[in-house]
Amino acid sequence: MIWNEAMECMRREDLRKLQGIRLKKVVERVYHNCEPYRKRMQEAGISPADINSIDDIVKLPFTSKKDLRDYYPFGLLSSPMSEIVRLHASSGTTGKPIVVGYTRNDLNIWNEVGARCFSAYGLGKNDVVQISYGYGLFTGGLGAHNAVETIGGTVIPMSSGNTEKQIMLMHDFGAVGLACTPSYALFLADAMKESGISREEFKLKVGIFGAEPWTEAMRRELQEKLGIKAYDIYGLTEIIGPGVGHECEYQDGTHLCEDHFFPEIIDPETGESLPEGSQGELVFTTLTKDGMPLIRFRTRDLTNLNYEQCACGRTSVRMGRILGRSDDMLIIRGVNVFPSQVESVICEMPELEPHYMLYVDRINNLDTFEVHVEVKEEFYSDEMSKMIDLRKRIAHRLQSVLGIGPDIKLVEPRSIERSQGKAKRVIDKRKFN
Ligand code: ADP
Ligand code: ZN
Repeated sequence: MIWNEAMECMRREDLRKLQGIRLKKVVERVYHNCEPYRKRMQEAGISPADINSIDDIVKLPFTSKKDLRDYYPFGLLSSPMSEIVRLHASSGTTGKPIVVGYTRNDLNIWNEVGARCFSAYGLGKNDVVQISYGYGLFTGGLGAHNAVETIGGTVIPMSSGNTEKQIMLMHDFGAVGLACTPSYALFLADAMKESGISREEFKLKVGIFGAEPWTEAMRRELQEKLGIKAYDIYGLTEIIGPGVGHECEYQDGTHLCEDHFFPEIIDPETGESLPEGSQGELVFTTLTKDGMPLIRFRTRDLTNLNYEQCACGRTSVRMGRILGRSDDMLIIRGVNVFPSQVESVICEMPELEPHYMLYVDRINNLDTFEVHVEVKEEFYSDEMSKMIDLRKRIAHRLQSVLGIGPDIKLVEPRSIERSQGKAKRVIDKRKFN
C-alpha cells in the first residue's frame, strides 16, 4: 500500500525541482538562524543566493558527528527552544550523546515518513503491531510507535526486555507486526519456540527490522524461523529517527524518503561525490525539518544507491544493504573486515546458529582474530573429527570472503549473549592496549 502516492511516485524531474526549492529554503533557514552554519558557509565563500537547484548542493560544506558533539547540546538548533517540543539522543560511543530537537512540524514529518514505511509493509488500521524497540531517548521505540498510530493501526508499546511478557502479549493481543532490531527478533524467535505455544496460534506476519546492519542471509533466517516477511526500516537520530527509508513488498532495496531527506554517496576518504551506483559513504541533507536541519550530514554508513524505478511504482531511490558504519570496520593484519561479512557466511551454513562474536587482539605485535559461533543442537557432536571438519569449512569460507582466516571457536547453543537492542558483536581489545 502506498501512503502518499503524490510524493512517493512523483516523476523524478518534478522531484528534483521540489528538492531544489526545499534545499534553498533550508539553506536560508540555517544561514539566518544558526551561527555555526552561517560561519562555515561564509568561510566557504557561499551564501544562500548560490543555491538555486538541487545540483548546487555539492557547493555546501559537510556536517559531521563531531559538529554535533562540538555544539552540544543545542548549538545546531535553527529554531528557538520555545518551538522545540521533543528531544531525542543517540547513545554515541564516546562521551556526550548526540542531541536532536524536534518542532511540532518535525514530528509531523516523522509521522508522515513513518506512515509511509508501515504502509509499505502492508500494514493498516486493522493491524496490531508490537513495538519492541526500546522507548526513551532512543528514537526506535517512539518513532515506530507514532508511525503505527498514524496509519491507524493498534500499538502495543512493549519496549524491549521482559521476554516472557513479549511472547504472551504478542500471542494474546494478536500482533501481526513486530518491530525490533533483527538481533532481538532472533532472540524472540527462540523464546516463541520455547513458550510451547505453537506457531499457528500467533498471528505474526510482518517483521519491521532495523537500527543495526543485517544481511540478506539474516533475513532468510528470520523469515524462516518466524514464518513472516521481514522488512528493513532505516533511520538515524540525527536525520529524524526510523523512517528515513523502508523496503516495499519487493524487498529489493530500501526506498529513501527523498522529498524530505536528500541522499548523496561520497568517497569517505576524499569527500568527493561518487557516480551513480557506487559504493561509498551516505550523506543526508534534511530538506524540510525546522528544529535541527542538517546540511550534508556524513552518516558514516557505507552503501550504494539505485535510481532505477521499482516495480512497486515508487520512484524514490533505493539504498542497498548497509555494509556497516565506517567506524565498524576492523583492520586486521591490514585487511578490512566488516562484521556483516562474517554474518553472511555464518547464516549460510546450515550447521550454525546465527549467533556470533568477533574477538580481536594484538599479541606480540600480531593481530589475532577469533570468531565464536554457536553450533545448532542437532549438529553439536562429541565426535572431535566432525567438529574439526566443521571448523575447517567455516575458516575456509571466511578466508575466501574476507581474505583473512580467523580462528574458529565452536560454542554450544545459547552460550553467546543475546541482545535486546542493538547487538554488540565485536570485542576489539587492541583499543584498550
Ligand atoms: P547510535 O548512533 O547510538 O547507534 P542511532 O539509533 O541514531 O544511534 O543509529 C543510527 C545508525 O544505526 C545508522 O546510522 C546505521 O548505522 C544504523 N542503522 C539504522 N537502521 C539500519 C538498517 N536498517 N540497516 C543497517 N543499519 C542501520
Ligand atoms: Zn519498491
